[in-house]
Amino acid sequence: MSASPALFPLFLDLRGRRVLVVGGGSVARRKIEALRDAGARVVVGAPALEPAIARLVDDGDIERLVGRFDPNWLNDTWLVVAATDSTIINRAVATAAEARRVWANVVDDAELSSVQVPSRVERGRLQVAISSGGGAPMLARHLREKFEAQLDESLGELAGLLADQRRRIRRRWPDIGARRAFFERLLSGPVPGLLRRGDADGARAEFERTLEQDATPHPRGSVALVGAGPGDPGLLTLRGLRALNEADVILHDRLVSREVLALARRDAELIEVGKQVGGDHHATQARIHALLVEHARAGRRVVRLKGGDPFVFGRGGEELEILHAHGIDFEVVPGVTAAIACAAYAGVPLTHREHAQSVRFLTALGRDGDDPVDWPALAQERQTLAFYMGVSGLERIRDNLVAHGRAADTPFALIENGTRAQQRVVAGTLSQLPEAAAAHAVKAPALLILGEVAAAATALHWFGPRPLRLEDAPGSRTVPQAA
Ligand code: SAH
Repeated sequence: MSASPALFPLFLDLRGRRVLVVGGGSVARRKIEALRDAGARVVVGAPALEPAIARLVDDGDIERLVGRFDPNWLNDTWLVVAATDSTIINRAVATAAEARRVWANVVDDAELSSVQVPSRVERGRLQVAISSGGGAPMLARHLREKFEAQLDESLGELAGLLADQRRRIRRRWPDIGARRAFFERLLSGPVPGLLRRGDADGARAEFERTLEQDATPHPRGSVALVGAGPGDPGLLTLRGLRALNEADVILHDRLVSREVLALARRDAELIEVGKQVGGDHHATQARIHALLVEHARAGRRVVRLKGGDPFVFGRGGEELEILHAHGIDFEVVPGVTAAIACAAYAGVPLTHREHAQSVRFLTALGRDGDDPVDWPALAQERQTLAFYMGVSGLERIRDNLVAHGRAADTPFALIENGTRAQQRVVAGTLSQLPEAAAAHAVKAPALLILGEVAAAATALHWFGPRPLRLEDAPGSRTVPQAA
């Protein structure tokens, strides 16, 4: 292994400076675009140009040199990029540039390059540049993707705000120590969150307040109500991931998978607030409200993490009402709800031009006495019903739907542990629904999809084991087929 020292990182101000690009193909075009974004005066030299580059020349946006590379093309040039597919020409450019003390980048050739272009993540004027010194570009790319996922889009606006206010900040806090403390207050305060929520005016006002404040005020906590998705951590949103990365405290339901929790900041405090089956829901919910308020009041960044989407059978609305009543800042990050996720992972399109014109999200809970369910409406054909909490009450669902006219051979797919490694799908027809679920001992969490589209669970199966049918259950011959 060579022990060559790391490259020296620099950010170039190319505004108005002449930069030569040798080559007229698609690689050259990408370089030209990036250089123009940075304000460079681009000159392209090549025997032939692809149409997009030719258009820039025609419009007078860039200058053109015709023919094969000539060292005189480097006159008055600050930087040259060789982007041809000929090693001979690329080498000639590098050699001529070296002789004239012009920095040269040869695309995809670290050895010939005196300057390398890093992998980078951009958020407005804020840039993170990554280099492996040309030795491990794949590693640099991998890190770039990580940063891309983790850095919120609004960081660009934050950088812009700070740049605009730089003079004022220095005037207000001339002492470097005091200035650092100010930035600490600003960056851990509400301004970044306000920008994330798209409230530029609020951010500006809060900036003014923080700028004028003398000492550290009591820190203001906030709550992000985040949907964790159905279990597969790949289904968490980027915003959800970022919130988990910043959280001081995470209040999560039992439904949230361990893989998702593993993405949280290492030193975040994890508190499980899941409801116990048969437990006192009212007491549990009251405790959740109290914890949310207590931690936010103490100035912490709280993530309230819920399975699926927080606004779908998740009591997210009630929790926000409490926060609103207490004047606590909040934001909401949606998640992939179980019906959407289970349908996708079971190969069942929820709507279909021929088989289903609408889809309803319902819960299977409910008592028979004062039944609030509009069964006649649900029994209509060509619509998809997605029942949450669908392990108990299957008999009631079948009996009512059939009684109100839904065909007994309407297909269903019952998805247990959807999107997770343990996913199981039980498929069949409405008439067999409770028996099939019992025969395969389906347990929570499970979601029931009922409707013409559910027939696709077998045909379009792609994830996990193949769908189970009533006949597949051990001893199924003894189970009578309800028809
Ligand atoms: N807010 C959640 C729903 C909470 S209600 C969401 O948007 O998904 C809890 C019910 O969701 C469970 O009883 C089950 O019906 C369904 N559910 C959640 N995750 C599931 C999963 N991975 N597989 C199957 N069903 C799931």
